[in-house]
Amino acid sequence: MLKPEQLFRAEIRDLSAYHVQDAADYIKLDAMENPYTWDDEQKQLWLETLAEVSVNRYPDPGAEQLKAELRRTMQVPDNSAIILGNGSDELIQMLALAIAGAGHKLLTPEPGFVMYRLLAQIAGMEYVSLPLQNSNFDLDKAAMLAAIKKHQPALVFLAYPNNPTGNLFERSTVEAIIQATPGLVVVDEAYCAFAQDSFMADLEKYPNLLVMRTVSKIGLAGLRVGMLAGDTQWLNELEKVRLPYNLNVLSQASAIFALQHYERLTEQTQKICKDREALFQALKAMPPVQVWPSQANFILFRVPDAPALFASLKQQGILIKNLHGSHSLLENCLRVTVGKPDENRLFLDALRKGLGI
Ligand SMILES: *Cc1c(COP(=O)(O)O)cnc(C)c1O
Repeated sequence: MLKPEQLFRAEIRDLSAYHVQDAADYIKLDAMENPYTWDDEQKQLWLETLAEVSVNRYPDPGAEQLKAELRRTMQVPDNSAIILGNGSDELIQMLALAIAGAGHKLLTPEPGFVMYRLLAQIAGMEYVSLPLQNSNFDLDKAAMLAAIKKHQPALVFLAYPNNPTGNLFERSTVEAIIQATPGLVVVDEAYCAFAQDSFMADLEKYPNLLVMRTVSKIGLAGLRVGMLAGDTQWLNELEKVRLPYNLNVLSQASAIFALQHYERLTEQTQKICKDREALFQALKAMPPVQVWPSQANFILFRVPDAPALFASLKQQGILIKNLHGSHSLLENCLRVTVGKPDENRLFLDALRKGLGI
C-alpha cells in the first residue's frame, strides 16, 4: 500500500489543517460572530418557512431567489453578475483553483486573512505577500505597486476592512492597485456592515475588480453563504468550477428568510458598532494597552505579554484570539470580537485582572 508521502503532494503534506479553538463553556469573542439570536416570533416564522422546503429534492442550482435578495440588500450594480459560495472561503478556493497554473501568482498584503495563503497553497498557486505599514497597518503603496510590476499577479486579495487589523486601507491606494494589476483584484468586504466605505459601486468603473461579501459576520455564520460580484466574463468561467449544489436547501431558505428581514440584522450591526466604540475607549484608557481603531466587529490591541494574558483570559472563561507569533507586525497582539454589552464588560474586567491593574 502507498504511504501518505507517496500519495499526497508535498504542498499538502506541509500544511497544517485550519485550527478552530474548542469554545465550549467560554464567552466566545474569538471568531467575529454576531452575538445576537432571533426572538421567538421570528424563530417560529423561520421554522414555518423551513417546513415548506423539499429536502427530497436537490437545491435550486442557480439559487436565483437568494441571489435576488443578496442583490437587493448588498446593492449590487445591475450590470454586475454574482456567484455564490458555501461561505466566501469557498469563493476564494474557486478563484484559486480556476486561476492556478501557467505561473500565475496570488499577491496580498500581510498580516491578512489566513485563508488566502492556505487556499493558494492547496491550489498549487504561487503566493506572494508583502508587509503592511508598521505604524497603522495601511498599505505600503510604493511597495505594493513595485511588487505588482515585478510579479504581474493574476489575483490580488485586499480585505476591506482588513482582518485581523480592522482598518480600511487608503482608498486611493486600493484604486491604484486595481489599475496597476494585470489580473483580478478581489476586494473582500466581509466586514462591510461595520465600515464606512465599500467598493461595490466601483464595479462599474473597474472591469478587473471583484467584490466579495459574506453573511457570516452579520449574524448568519452558520448558514455558510458568500457572494462574489463582478463582470460576467470572469464569473462565467468561475461557474464552471462551482459544484452544482454548493448551497443546500436549508441554507438557501434560511438566508432568503433572514434577508427578507434585513432591517433586523442592520439594527444588530449598528448596535455592535456603538458597542465597539465603547470597548475601544475602555481599552484606550488602559495604560499598558495599545489599541488600533476598527471599522470591523473586532478590535486589535497590544499588551506587554500576549500569550500570558491570553492564558489568563481563558482561565477566566473568556476566549479571544491570540495573534502573537502569527506575523512579525503582530507581536504581543490580541484580537477581541465585539460581543453583547455584558460580555464586553466581563472581558474588560478579566483583562484588568490579567494585567494586574
Ligand atoms: C471571516 C472572513 C471571511 C470568510 O467568511 P465566510 O463567508 O464565513 O467563509 C472572508 N474574508 C475575511 C477577511 C474574513 O475575515
